[in-house]
Amino acid sequence: MGDPRSFITINRVDSGYRPVTERIQDYDEVERLLPDDARMRQALRCMDCGVPFCHWACPVSNIMPEWQAKLAQGNWQAAYDILQATNNFPEFTGRLCPAPCEASCVLGINDDPVTIRENELAVIEHAFEAGYVQPKPPARRTGKKVAVIGSGPAGLACADSLNKAGHTVVLYEAADAVGGYLRFGVPDFKLDKRIIDRRIAILQAEGLTVQTGVKVGEDISVDDIQAEYNAVCLAIGARQPRDLPIEGRDLDGIHFAVDYLTQQNRLVRGDEIPDAERITAAHKHVVVIGGGDTGSDCVGTANRQGAQSITQIELLPAPPEIRPADQPWPLWPKLYKTSSSHEEGCKRLFNIATQQFSATDGHVQKLSAVHVEWHADDNGQYRMTEVPGSEFELEADLVLLAMGFVHVEHSELIAGFGIELNARGNIPVDERYMTGVDGLFAAGDASRGASLVVWAIHEGREAARGIHDYLSSR
Ligand SMILES: Cc1cc2nc3c(=O)[nH]c(=O)nc-3n(C[C@H](O)[C@H](O)[C@H](O)COP(=O)(O)OP(=O)(O)OC[C@H]3O[C@@H](n4cnc5c(N)ncnc54)[C@H](O)[C@@H]3O)c2cc1C
Repeated sequence: MGDPRSFITINRVDSGYRPVTERIQDYDEVERLLPDDARMRQALRCMDCGVPFCHWACPVSNIMPEWQAKLAQGNWQAAYDILQATNNFPEFTGRLCPAPCEASCVLGINDDPVTIRENELAVIEHAFEAGYVQPKPPARRTGKKVAVIGSGPAGLACADSLNKAGHTVVLYEAADAVGGYLRFGVPDFKLDKRIIDRRIAILQAEGLTVQTGVKVGEDISVDDIQAEYNAVCLAIGARQPRDLPIEGRDLDGIHFAVDYLTQQNRLVRGDEIPDAERITAAHKHVVVIGGGDTGSDCVGTANRQGAQSITQIELLPAPPEIRPADQPWPLWPKLYKTSSSHEEGCKRLFNIATQQFSATDGHVQKLSAVHVEWHADDNGQYRMTEVPGSEFELEADLVLLAMGFVHVEHSELIAGFGIELNARGNIPVDERYMTGVDGLFAAGDASRGASLVVWAIHEGREAARGIHDYLSSR
């Protein structure tokens, strides 16, 4: 820590976003970077607390105070070295993480927390620009072979860690490009896909083999995988979207959010999509069902496509704007969040239950809904009741279902490996991240359930540790 009074004398300054009128014309990243000197001043605000709760709250246990100190001194190389020791991909979390570290920053008790996520992004972008991030292939190979199935952040972190440990790793991906939801899901305006390509080039130069367009269980059999490799990690995500099986669900114009978002990612990449398959919000009344981050990504995309109106509806009540007493510091609070996409324009409704879709000529035209209330019963369980007489209709010629993901896809792959799923429909693992099948590990959303990029990276790293120990003991 440089000046011990900096947390009093320097205010939090966020990087901010490009102006709305400019950014909704394109799919480039919306967030800006502060100049280096301003960023270093922000790191000076870190108090180097005796007990760094930020470190405790971070799923990958980033050592915040240490790299804030290096950043504040302008020693970007040292800041990068400390940061990358606990996080394989700070360029993903620096852009996408909701930053539980900031919610538990001690400064946040009575002031604005340190801009930890933005500082992380600045350090890793500086590191790439300055050439600190170079391929470092392992000095020797162990002769052990590992297959990692699925190339989202969990699979990438697992494959990278094992490759660095000297194992020979093949990363299999069903899609035609690496990244999981980072590639096809998260909009380009939050994560430019060249950021993924830049990292993959480093991993490949370090000796990682990547095979895209290979769906394990279909294009290559489970038996062949088991015969070929000493260990296998399943990082296949929790990709079964939650549906809304109400009257009218089968009408045209009602889509899962991830199909809509993926298509836009492909268009940005330059793929041709036949008109008959295009899902577009242009000139449409769009209703997004689901008030979370995926819903917000749909709002941002629909605005860029030129929607006539956008309404985002949520079944639950609006979260509070400030930390409520039952979610005290340093816990993660569920607060009302206005994303950059919300700022770009949409109507947000809470406590709304969708009842029915109706149509003209087979294409959705209206959505019928009702206001609801939530009350705790005698056991403290919240129960929903409809408000009598509060039924209403919304014009809707594009409906996007963004209600989360229920579990891993129950595919041939799961049956082929003989996995017994847990009660939530995901892949159970032990403390080594091994499933009930010897030598078969799982990580990320596939075992944890739909979660966050930072948790996927954590689990990928931990599964790699489990696999390394398993291989070393044989
Ligand atoms: C639209 C959207 C926005 C999001 N925004 C954020 C955000 O801002 N911040 C955040 O922290 N989190 C966000 N998330 C959540 C985050 O993306 C996920 O938690 C994370 O990607 C999970 O990583 P994973 O590696 O476990 O799985 P995934 O990213 O789902 O990757 C799994 C991969 O496995 C592949 N696969 C599946 N089966 C096979 C097979 N049989 N053979 C070969 N490959 C296979 C899939 O094609 C996929 O590429 C978002 C999610 C979505 C959908």
